[in-house]
Amino acid sequence: MHDLLSRDEYHAIADGIVPMTNSYINGKFTSAKSGKTYPTTNPATGEVIAEIASCDKTDVDYTVKKARQAFESGVWSRMHPGERKEILIRLVKLMKRNRYELQVLESIDSGKPIREIATIDFPETLECLAWYAEAGDKLYDQISPSTDDAMGLIVREPIGVVACILPWNFPLQMLGWKAGPALAAGNSVIVKPASETSMSALRVAELAGEAGVPPGVFNVITGPGSTVGEALGTHEDIGAISFTGSTEIGRRVLEYSAGSNLKKVTLELGGKNPAVVLEDAEELDYVADQVVRAMFWNMGENCSSNSRLIVHRKHKEELCRRIHDKLRDWKIGDPLDPQNGLGSMVSKKHFDDVMRYIEVGRKEGAEVIAGGEALDIGSGLFIAPTIFDKVTPDMTIAKDEIFGPVLTIHSVGSDDEAISLANDTVYGLHATVFCAHGKKALRAARRIQAGTVTVNSYCEGDITTPFGGYKLSGFGGRDNGLHAFDQYTETKTIWLDLGEHEIDARLE
Ligand code: NAD
Ligand code: MN
Repeated sequence: MHDLLSRDEYHAIADGIVPMTNSYINGKFTSAKSGKTYPTTNPATGEVIAEIASCDKTDVDYTVKKARQAFESGVWSRMHPGERKEILIRLVKLMKRNRYELQVLESIDSGKPIREIATIDFPETLECLAWYAEAGDKLYDQISPSTDDAMGLIVREPIGVVACILPWNFPLQMLGWKAGPALAAGNSVIVKPASETSMSALRVAELAGEAGVPPGVFNVITGPGSTVGEALGTHEDIGAISFTGSTEIGRRVLEYSAGSNLKKVTLELGGKNPAVVLEDAEELDYVADQVVRAMFWNMGENCSSNSRLIVHRKHKEELCRRIHDKLRDWKIGDPLDPQNGLGSMVSKKHFDDVMRYIEVGRKEGAEVIAGGEALDIGSGLFIAPTIFDKVTPDMTIAKDEIFGPVLTIHSVGSDDEAISLANDTVYGLHATVFCAHGKKALRAARRIQAGTVTVNSYCEGDITTPFGGYKLSGFGGRDNGLHAFDQYTETKTIWLDLGEHEIDARLE
């Protein structure tokens, strides 16, 4: 599955792509009712790739109506889970067959390196969809403890119409994480991709139709978050929203729910995740490799990137030296060149935000020890992997989620100090602990307030393990694992009275 083509082959595919530009609603590509479009660009070249349908509330209302009709018809919601499985597995096979096109679409729309998409994002997306397809017909419900006189059935039911609002940093993978379990559970799903990166989702929707997902069951609606996102958030007939993106917008989604029909809300938000190198850390070469990967993978546009390196002072100098060495292996440039591990920032706005943070870091007195500048590669939005030393916890770059390739280094004098500093953040999504002493590592993992803590390597877990955040990093539920089904199902009690009730004649 990890087959990489050459740069020229990828460019040839890119040149031949005719992107889908309309929303996929009720089984058909549909333009916005208003006729409006907006441009989507390839941030690595500055080129406008396509004009995408810019939908609004009218289109959302229509989509929800169709999704609701499909749900009520039972064509998917009451289909045998085993049949849903077959169809979703067919989708996975179709995606696999069309992998080069999907991978290139993803890369040119987002600036992500093709190497990363082909070897990580894409195979993991297929694995995720297949996992939920397979899980759907293996979920047993429950019966309550009782006597012979009664029985309580505790059953899960699909919620109805479910919306998934996606970020731009892992467009396909986030679609898999959310639409996978939502569909497997029998819901009608409306995906709203980030406006920067809608094209791969549209192609997946088309393939879903080809695989046999009935019209109205899987819809992709494109357009600005401020209109389409808000219309979904406030809709009275959407039963649940799963959102990944910024904490600021996540809060708003919660407000939309509170002000409308109290739809279930799950939020996966930002992070300011620590990599914590304790006194007993060993294998510093491997630690350096993992620290670099944890920070710079996907150009730092990753909610679980480990953007704060908290290191025991005894290891600091050596670790920094090795980090510099490792950085040399991360080539940056044309995302369609599989030699490159780093691509472009997703948009000019985001590029400017990240560059501003680098300026603020300098102004507040931190010292740049690597990168610190934009790279002049064609018209792309490339930023050199940047490392700040001499960072204090009160600095802006130590507190804000930058979401770009900017690592801050904090040296500490004890493991306790390391853990307190790790927890000194409003976020709590992910953390990594490096420590060769098993008990100490596990104790630290227990004390760090984060939804996922990895010991001795950088990893987010896999499809079997729940993913989500403490504190401002999340709300309401978890993605991945069987836990994700909780987001997309209601729990119903059906109480059965099994008693023999003889009516006492004397009372009549
Ligand atoms: P965002 O939160 O603005 O966008 C996420 C999604 O929400 C997109 O689909 C967007 O169209 C939609 N949206 C925007 N406004 C909305 C609204 N008012 N109502 C409903 N939906 C709306 O994130 P962004 O602008 O793409 O990125 C900004 C910052 O968010 C980043 O710098 C980063 O800090 C964070 N972020 C986090 C993640 C993550 O994985 N947790 C992903 C992307 C961005
Ligand atoms: Mn784009």
